[in-house]
Amino acid sequence: GRLPARDTIQQMLQDAYTRFRNGDEGRVADYIPVLASVPRDLFAVCLAGIDGELYAVGDAKHVFTIQSVSKPFVFALVCQAVGLEQARCKLGVNATGMPFDSVIALELSRERLTNPMVNAGAIATTSLVPGETADRKWQFILDGLSRFAGRQLSINEEAYRSEAATNLRNRGIAKLLEGYQRLYFDGLESTDVYTRQCSINITAQDLSVMSATLASGGVNPITGERVVDAVVSKRVLAVLATAGLYELSGEWLFETGLPGKSGVSGGLITVVPGKGGLATFAPPLDEAGNSVRGLQVTRYLSERLALSLFASK
Ligand code: GLU
Repeated sequence: GRLPARDTIQQMLQDAYTRFRNGDEGRVADYIPVLASVPRDLFAVCLAGIDGELYAVGDAKHVFTIQSVSKPFVFALVCQAVGLEQARCKLGVNATGMPFDSVIALELSRERLTNPMVNAGAIATTSLVPGETADRKWQFILDGLSRFAGRQLSINEEAYRSEAATNLRNRGIAKLLEGYQRLYFDGLESTDVYTRQCSINITAQDLSVMSATLASGGVNPITGERVVDAVVSKRVLAVLATAGLYELSGEWLFETGLPGKSGVSGGLITVVPGKGGLATFAPPLDEAGNSVRGLQVTRYLSERLALSLFASK
């Protein structure tokens, strides 16, 4: 099936926005000053259809750092570059059920594998990005994410610098991976590229287009460019379904029936395969690190627009 008619969608996005805009639950991430200073009432709800229709309500053009929402896109680019089987056996695809920066998850895995949606697996994914140097890898990521977004993206230098100065835990995770031969480039350099990747400037509107690119099997609906193959896109969404919302991924799939990815800056994408990509932005987070209003709006829209992949009709 397709998405409902344009007016219906616009009306429902507006309804969802109005219904949840005054919610004041959650805590804005404050582990670096750039995130702590973001106004907590910012709120955007965007949808991009696979035929290129764009819908936006609220602060759809507000620029924020992409953070963990970068993970599925870098994973897709790496799968495209190295092949799905290589990616699976070098990175892992099983959900950990644990917080995103868990060291225990890595220690408990006999294979020393997590998955590309949590930090250990994401840093390993970044280490697998093509390129002989950290700079080449970074350019590959920035180019690739720009193709997903359909416009040239840039880095937030201030976010990058403050995260780079405080990311000791991620460096520790990279060193552990390196010790287990589960990293495919220098540990500190891989962490640095990963930190840059998290600091890319993005808007909710961009995220809806990126999400719609995965929904359409890898073709950006705005530029018409094929960014990754359909077979890659399909597999990335499978990983997202089990591991995209930190340790609440099961609850999320139970509620929405859709693959999604959240990030600590308040972004959240939800992919509706064959239909489109939803993106929300609202900085206050729940205990796991998911955007509270993002979850509320997406649950509501998934129900109202009948988007669950598991529905029989
Ligand atoms: N840069 C953050 C980290 O790796 C991203 C966290 C997130 O969005 O989950 O710690």
